[in-house]
Amino acid sequence: MAALDPLRVLILGGTGEGYELAAALSEASDLHVVSSLAGRTSRPRLPQGDVRIGGFGGAGGLAEYLRDCGAGAVIDATHPFAATMGWHAAEAAELVGVPLLRLERPPWRSGPGDAWDDVGDWDEAAAVVRRQARRVLLAIGRQEIAPFAAIDTAWFLIRAVEAPDPMPAFRHAEILLARGPFDLAGERQLLAEHRIDTIVCKNSGGAATAAKLIAARELGLRVVMRRRPPRPELPTVSSIAAALAWLRALRTR
Ligand code: NAP
Repeated sequence: MAALDPLRVLILGGTGEGYELAAALSEASDLHVVSSLAGRTSRPRLPQGDVRIGGFGGAGGLAEYLRDCGAGAVIDATHPFAATMGWHAAEAAELVGVPLLRLERPPWRSGPGDAWDDVGDWDEAAAVVRRQARRVLLAIGRQEIAPFAAIDTAWFLIRAVEAPDPMPAFRHAEILLARGPFDLAGERQLLAEHRIDTIVCKNSGGAATAAKLIAARELGLRVVMRRRPPRPELPTVSSIAAALAWLRALRTR
């Protein structure tokens, strides 16, 4: 019996899960893996296997790409807050008739001892900061910090992988360039050293950036936590093993 052609799998990545999945799938001789990165950072870490970088030009562009490369499956492993890509992936996969899976880490949940304000957008977060914060760790990346710039009653430590460009005109702020993962000892030290009373962050989930929440609980700090944006309803898994099982099931269909 002739061997099947390798199944072409497109991973929409830019996350830890995306890298792990690319590494796991690259081991399989019956899969051809291409990872796609948005190209937001100037020197991205490259996943194993083939890589393409840059937007597709909307859902239509992605559909064309899937058709042209003969994709047999798409796995959307983008960040929980990269919602536009999720909607585009759903639309493109539907247009072309390619199976699509969402690989997503579960959200963090508050527990006893946590003091979280759940907010739906950054304006709401800024209103909470204005009301009750004096020294803030702003751990939301560099792209969406503008709503906090006009607050003159608090000082901000802005932690991001790359410097904001352009930098909004904050009255009292310092930039800290750092890329996770962040460990608990380091987070405790950072929060204490800067006398932080409030952390503003996204409900990204996962272990790499969770230590700040444990440190916040220990130190009795408030956390302003932005809820995840809505995504299309899709088959969803939270582990690499489950994503592999989904691909295997496609192979035997
Ligand atoms: P987004 O708002 O969902 O996407 C905006 C546009 O960027 C998309 O319409 C698409 O452009 C392009 N794009 C996004 N992800 C892409 C990918 N994997 N490959 C090719 N093009 C992609 O996304 P975002 O929030 O700007 O995030 C960009 C990337 O950074 C994502 O891949 C995400 O996994 C990663 N990331 C995001 C966050 C976050 O907090 N948002 C955190 C960590 C990592 P076209 O319409 O032109 O195709």
